[in-house]
Amino acid sequence: MDMDPDTTHDGLRGGYPPWRQRRQPVGRPRLSEDLRCDVLIVGGGITGSFMAEHLSALGHQVCVLDREKPGLGSTAASTAMLLWEIDASLTKLTQLYGFERAAGIYHHSLRAVAGLKALVESCALPCGFHARNSLYLAKAGSGPRELLAEHELRQRADLPGAYLDHRRLLSEFSLSREAALVSPGSAEVDPVLLSQALLARASEQGASLFADEAVSYEGAGRGVLVGLDSGHAIEADKVVLATGYATPDWLSMPLHTISSTWAIATPAQAPGTLWRDRALLWEAGEKYTYARTTTDNRIVIGGEDDASLRDQSARDDAMAAKTATLLDRLTGLWPAALSRADFQWSGAFGETGDGLPLIGPVPGRSNMFAAYGYGGNGITFSYMASRMIGRMMAGKNEPWFHDLAIDRPVPPGLA
Ligand SMILES: Cc1cc2nc3c(=O)[nH]c(=O)nc-3n(C[C@H](O)[C@H](O)[C@H](O)COP(=O)(O)OP(=O)(O)OC[C@H]3O[C@@H](n4cnc5c(N)ncnc54)[C@H](O)[C@@H]3O)c2cc1C
Repeated sequence: MDMDPDTTHDGLRGGYPPWRQRRQPVGRPRLSEDLRCDVLIVGGGITGSFMAEHLSALGHQVCVLDREKPGLGSTAASTAMLLWEIDASLTKLTQLYGFERAAGIYHHSLRAVAGLKALVESCALPCGFHARNSLYLAKAGSGPRELLAEHELRQRADLPGAYLDHRRLLSEFSLSREAALVSPGSAEVDPVLLSQALLARASEQGASLFADEAVSYEGAGRGVLVGLDSGHAIEADKVVLATGYATPDWLSMPLHTISSTWAIATPAQAPGTLWRDRALLWEAGEKYTYARTTTDNRIVIGGEDDASLRDQSARDDAMAAKTATLLDRLTGLWPAALSRADFQWSGAFGETGDGLPLIGPVPGRSNMFAAYGYGGNGITFSYMASRMIGRMMAGKNEPWFHDLAIDRPVPPGLA
């Protein structure tokens, strides 16, 4: 076990996830003087890491600050299923925003996982990346109608995937649900290794990393002056807040809520006992359970979200009960599994009413951008955020960026 459970004082996560860390993480001194840079990224989790790699590759002089060990905030809690399917089904997004806009967002998400895969492959990032199919399962005890309608809408949107009725699902995947959608184009990863590999690459491209905390932000000339806990300051042309669920209160949006979630990893399963293709499994419904496998043959299963438990000590108190429920769910899903928890962990989980992230310029603050509020698609949306903000900084705004804007208008009843 190589992860310290107390690496975050933000209360972003607790317990032990099964992920590995780089043997030689990028060094991070404390700043001993004031500094100037093109782009300051606050937060070195997966969002800040994609951002640092991409913006430094574009030629910006980048600084990254993290007050904790980078990658060991919420990123270490992630079960790291890289789904292009969004928490809000295409059906729900269509009801909210109309078919064209909903289908467009789904295609951007599909392209984001493809882009992430291309990046990992072209840079040979050592991060346990594997392309996977996803299996979107009808909720236990509910019929196939909802999934059939979702499938037809996805076909109309030209999204990949096939509908499996109960019989096909049972014969092809040995899973007993009323129906499922099987889709190519998703993936899994070790989130800590990916984050640290991206930061290492950013550093090779000239980015600097510091172990300081940003405590204040003020407009200064044509940039932003960021005050640090040490009393020093960084003046940056642009600032990106990649602070995850620790995003400052002044950026809280009515659409965004923080809840809690739990996950476990089993011991390595016996060879030949895992489900077909090691597909990423997730259920329809608001509070879904999901499962994946790891390179060392464990099953990771998560869910059990609870908005009433908001701090880490409440999450810790609930750990034993949530673990027992997740083990029951695993037995229901895959009776052949060795149903025991080797790792148990929990984390803060931020989501939005429409299932879409908050990405773009910070309302009312010049030269500041932020990316957060990702729900279950955190890593896919983090990648997407880095590409979007890179384009925004180059003055290349695209109309669909408004769909994810931090201050986007939302249908009544959602906020
Ligand atoms: C149990 C669980 C399961 C999940 N499963 C999935 C999944 O399967 N797939 C998926 O895509 N997503 C999943 N997610 C979501 C995903 O983990 C998050 O969206 C993602 O990790 C957020 O990354 P981040 O870089 O934005 O935040 P973090 O990893 O939290 O990074 C933010 C960093 O900012 C630093 N920071 C904050 N404020 C300051 C400051 N003022 N100064 C300096 N540093 C600061 C923190 O120290 C932290 O390191 C899951 C989340 C949880 C909790």
